[in-house]
Amino acid sequence: MSPLCSVLAELASPGIAYSPFYMTISAEEPVIDLHSDDYFMKRALDEALRAYQQGEVPVGAVIVSDGQVIARGYNQVEMLKDATAHAEMLSLTAAQEAVGDWRLTDCDLYVTKEPCPMCAGAIVHCRVRRVIFGCPSAKDGAAGGGFVNLLQNPALNHSCDVSHGVLAQDCAALLRRFFQEARHKQKQTDLPQDDT
Ligand code: ZN
Repeated sequence: MSPLCSVLAELASPGIAYSPFYMTISAEEPVIDLHSDDYFMKRALDEALRAYQQGEVPVGAVIVSDGQVIARGYNQVEMLKDATAHAEMLSLTAAQEAVGDWRLTDCDLYVTKEPCPMCAGAIVHCRVRRVIFGCPSAKDGAAGGGFVNLLQNPALNHSCDVSHGVLAQDCAALLRRFFQEARHKQKQTDLPQDDT
């Protein structure tokens, strides 16, 4: 039961008189803003979870146009044996197919981790309007949170609006968990085998 529901149940129990003020509150349901950055980042996290479940580094992306998800993708480098199969690259290809054009000027890309240089380059090529990423990547981030910002480089012919930090803790926690588990598995395989 949600905190709001439990409060309402208490208010509705016998012997408790409640004022019209509470009646007004009871009519309210939690509001889900279907057009918020949080909402679309959650959809990107759904994709990251799919990557995690398949043993891939858990990064997910969705591309949104007119308030609708038109493309989605998750990291599939190991499965496809393709170093370019990052979540952003796969979702860009799917979005171009959905739009019927390589220009994604009315599209916004949500991705759980800061794009790498390859993906940032592709995002600029496709002229994506806005990029929203969850957690930064100090190691290879190319969107202002890492070592370079290719999404807003005056030398290039397109610049994206960039937002970051949306559900950053959730996005980072999933990555942390994946790498902790990977290290644990590696330690297990490094242990001397018991041949007895
Ligand atoms: Zn990338």
